[in-house]
Amino acid sequence: MAKYTGPACRLCRREGTKLFLKGDRCFSDKCSVSRRAQAPGQHGVGTGRKRVKEYGLQLREKQKAKRYYGILEKQFKNYFVKADKKEGQTGENLLTMIERRLDNVVYRMGMADSRREARQLVRHGHFRVNGRKVDIPSYITKKGDVITLREQSRKSPKIKMLVENISARSVPAWISMDKENIQATITALPVRTDIDFPIEEHLIVELYSK
Ligand code: SF4
Repeated sequence: MAKYTGPACRLCRREGTKLFLKGDRCFSDKCSVSRRAQAPGQHGVGTGRKRVKEYGLQLREKQKAKRYYGILEKQFKNYFVKADKKEGQTGENLLTMIERRLDNVVYRMGMADSRREARQLVRHGHFRVNGRKVDIPSYITKKGDVITLREQSRKSPKIKMLVENISARSVPAWISMDKENIQATITALPVRTDIDFPIEEHLIVELYSK
């Protein structure tokens, strides 16, 4: 599946929920989902939400999760295969594995307004994991990993602005954040209850298990 390059808000309207793809705008009155809870395109006009059959529900749930985390189909399927091989519930394994991606951790640290921005920051090499530069957004962090901002990156005006905003951001319980030094430590692996986004992961498992 090709990378989606269209308007981010359209994806939220398609899924009928906020996917938080545009930073502060998502929390403001300008959010299109808050203003217009209707699917985009002519089929979304006047007809309301159609009754969606089982397959449609499963497909939509998978699309929602992929879009929320900004992951393409092939990689998402690979995560599912890995999650299925692990002990425990596949759906929970899937979400908690994705939650540990470095781009998501950078977002959760409060260092980016959106996951999309976090992904770009990681790709540009602004972060170190355990002292080593890691520019792979899909890098899966582990318990004990220490994520720091590169010293050189602190001079960038864009990064300076993000650092200024960091104190207002909340950080999940599985990450210990030293906001002064911009250093995050993964103190525990995330569990299902740490993911506050409403995803019915059992529908995704059902879809891929057909
Ligand atoms: Fe989605 Fe954010 Fe756009 Fe609202 S503002 S529709 S949450 S991307």
